[in-house]
Amino acid sequence: MDAREAMYKERIKEMQRRISTLERVLRLTQVINSTLDLDPLLDIIVQAVTELTETESASIMLIDERTGDLRFQAVTGQKSAEVKPFTVPVEGSIAGAAITEDRPLLIRDVQNDPRWYQHVDKASGFTTRSIMAVPMKVRGEVVGVVEAINKRGDAEMTWEDVEILSTLASQAAIAIHNARLLAALQRAYDELNELDRMKSNFIAIAAHELRTPLSVILGYAMFLKNEASGPEEQEQLDAVLQSAMRLRSLINDMINLREVDAGEAMLELESFALQDMIDEAVEEVRPLAEAKEHQIVLSLPEQPIIVTADRGKLSIALGNLLHNAIKFTPQGGQVGVRAGRYSDKAWFMVWDTGIGIPPKEVDRIFDRFYQVEPSLTRHYEGMGLGLAIVKEMIELHHGHVRVDSREGKGSAFTVTIPLWQQQGDRG
Ligand code: ADP
Repeated sequence: MDAREAMYKERIKEMQRRISTLERVLRLTQVINSTLDLDPLLDIIVQAVTELTETESASIMLIDERTGDLRFQAVTGQKSAEVKPFTVPVEGSIAGAAITEDRPLLIRDVQNDPRWYQHVDKASGFTTRSIMAVPMKVRGEVVGVVEAINKRGDAEMTWEDVEILSTLASQAAIAIHNARLLAALQRAYDELNELDRMKSNFIAIAAHELRTPLSVILGYAMFLKNEASGPEEQEQLDAVLQSAMRLRSLINDMINLREVDAGEAMLELESFALQDMIDEAVEEVRPLAEAKEHQIVLSLPEQPIIVTADRGKLSIALGNLLHNAIKFTPQGGQVGVRAGRYSDKAWFMVWDTGIGIPPKEVDRIFDRFYQVEPSLTRHYEGMGLGLAIVKEMIELHHGHVRVDSREGKGSAFTVTIPLWQQQGDRG
């Protein structure tokens, strides 16, 4: 074998070694990307540092935001447990020098370097000979340092080792960045939950406080209406009554949803004919439908559909669907209810010949406060809670709501529930 051939062989071997190192780094990247749990991740990274740079120990240190010192976050090597509790100052340590000089450092003779922080060795019984240190940056800001200590055997640390360390340091930086983002997100989420709880409490108190004066207004308005003689007076009192009833239904919506949120919503079961409940709900909204000259079309089977359910909650759901059907149908349209049963389920459908719902909105209309037409420009009154309540009430019954709609033609909401609820169901 001549000298050239030997050189080629040597180069090929070298390249193969580099490729296998890169392969390891790549595999490590996959692991890093697939987990968000910071501490085990940093452990994996320091482990990889010692293996790939063939060193005795490696560590990741993070800057303590409070003190400005460096804290060990992950350490490998024989003395890792002894080393971990230490903090290292930025001024007067090689790790700190990598930070302040903002570049990787390779120190082959640590014992004679004035920057070396000896106290960790003294306390742990470890002997440091050589160090490489690379600063870790998140979005341009240094957050810590990755170090590797003492090449194994007789070999010396090389700048190629520093390169490997740099690659792993940037992986660690990404992991730290992600973990911090996640923690910030979690904090924001917790705050949001707290705000949501406060909002719910506020709604509960406000709604209950509003109920009492409203009952007084309704009571007197009703009394005055019975006493009133002239048609003009009657009309004015009708307006008062209608507004007060609208307020009452808004307040009830708020209370109903809060109860569901607080897990206080219980099913009070009774057996009744679905047709009776539908007749009752339709009679309640008939004046509203008549005011808009709608025709109400009922097609209910003669045979009673007996369900065991919470009649009050089911009525709220049906009432909301009927109100919407009347509201979103232009003057002189049709609003109808159908009902039936199949196997162990009962269903009812509220349909209308109204404005319909654009297909892209269909999935969202059951969200709280969602309205197809933004409330500031809208022609229709409401808070966007009606359908959210329908969904909650029906889901308490282990049922579901489906909507079929064609824009400009009309909509049909179909509710399906089991004929009876399992014993002990709370919903
Ligand atoms: P609200 O009626 O108070 O606006 P809902 O939760 O009851 O709130 O309904 C949400 C939205 O769904 C409504 O604003 C409306 O855009 C749409 N929607 C509901 N029912 C119908 C219907 N029968 N026809 C057309 N659009 C409807």
